[in-house]
Amino acid sequence: MPANLATPLAFDASIVATLACPACHGDLRSEEARLVCASCHRAYPIVDGIPALIVERAEAASSKND
Ligand SMILES: [Zn+2]
Repeated sequence: MPANLATPLAFDASIVATLACPACHGDLRSEEARLVCASCHRAYPIVDGIPALIVERAEAASSKND
């Protein structure tokens, strides 16, 4: 099956596999409209189909109890 080009927010898994978290160099996985680091759990937004791998823009996914 070819990549689903009709879904702009879905990122090709093979592309994600080449990317690394800029904060800790951990593996990233695509999760809806963001890339989530498996190590530090930062969530990087995908803006216009381009992942914004910028630490300052990452969301700390595990900070739910503020
Ligand atoms: Zn990380």
